Amino acid sequence: MRRTRVRRWSAPPTQTQVRAATAPSAEARAERVPLSTPHLDPSAWTYVKECLDTGWVSTVGRFVHRFEESLEQYTGATSVVATSCGTSALHLAMLACDIGPGDVVLVPALSFVATVNAVRYVGAEPWFVDVDPDTWNVSADTLAAALRRARRRGRRPKAALVTHLYGVPVDMEPVVDLCAREDMVLVEDAAESLGSTLHGRHTGTFGRAAALSFNGNKIITTGGGGALLSMDPAVASRARHLSTQARVGVRGYQHDEVGYNYRMPNLNAALGVSQLESLPALRARRREIQHHYAEALGRWPGLVAQRAPAGSEVNAWLQAVRVTSSSALDRDGLLEALDAAGIEARPVFDPLHKLPMFRGFGGRCPVAEEISAQGINLPNAPDADEWRVVEALDRLVG
Ligand SMILES: *Cc1c(COP(=O)(O)O)cnc(C)c1O
Repeated sequence: MRRTRVRRWSAPPTQTQVRAATAPSAEARAERVPLSTPHLDPSAWTYVKECLDTGWVSTVGRFVHRFEESLEQYTGATSVVATSCGTSALHLAMLACDIGPGDVVLVPALSFVATVNAVRYVGAEPWFVDVDPDTWNVSADTLAAALRRARRRGRRPKAALVTHLYGVPVDMEPVVDLCAREDMVLVEDAAESLGSTLHGRHTGTFGRAAALSFNGNKIITTGGGGALLSMDPAVASRARHLSTQARVGVRGYQHDEVGYNYRMPNLNAALGVSQLESLPALRARRREIQHHYAEALGRWPGLVAQRAPAGSEVNAWLQAVRVTSSSALDRDGLLEALDAAGIEARPVFDPLHKLPMFRGFGGRCPVAEEISAQGINLPNAPDADEWRVVEALDRLVG
């Protein structure tokens, strides 16, 4: 999951190389099938070169602004702040929503560790929420159950931080209603779900703030980077202020609170502008791969795919399946056999409430534990040859 391989070109790519990047060559097919790799289009060279030619390589420059505007246009978010990574965007989201020491925050038990780390950065306490067995995400039901449990223990959660896991949107409308009714701030970890929508509305635009990630393994990359999204310009402007060392004025060194150095450099934003231009094609290709898996899934007894809620369109960032007890191989056996066949599959995240630094916090999450023990991610990279994966699964569990 966290490993990335970048296609290396010493000079701008030729047309043949560009074609090779979109359609796997015979040599590529003989290689391992990668889980998730960055896909770079020729405009990446043009934009990054412009930064190098003009010297605008750091946090000031036209690409940062252009990247933020393009993200606003694409997602429909009112305000976007480009950041150094997805984790810093999550930290800023916590700060800009006034979540602080002693506050209790509902967090999914099944997510990447950065989700819950951000809660701890501001001194707040996670309360772990179980997930739905079909979508693998928290739902209004699992959030309400966790809320009741927390209150019985005398805790009053101030916020809910929800992750759209592997690009599958949380069923947000009932969650938005629940948070409004219970007076909880809603924050979205949309690090994996850029390009996923619910009834036409983009993930990351439902809560008070949201975080995106552009790490090398995500659907688009800036090398390293992230963004904070908000529909509230005041929240975004507070995040922007904190991300630039809380500096006031343009000259001199005046600062009005403890800030952070969390802005995205221009060099990374240049790559981001190119990647955003490619996003519709990358999303379409990932959806095509997922469609090919969905067609074959009926031939693999015991494998059950993560399901998207009604009315959603997924970005198909990663294909996730459960290996249940009726499968010919168990989860770890299947991972080993895929590895031997040159296919890079990975187990899904460990449940966060079982990690040593989070064991003392509240929440009961048996479904997350079961999914974590049974789940795998299959290759979904645009350059991957999904037919090799289909052939291998036909042979192993068909
Ligand atoms: C990748 C990821 C992050 C963190 O993003 P970085 O850019 O690596 O800091 C946070 N949450 C989730 C769910 C992620 O997948």
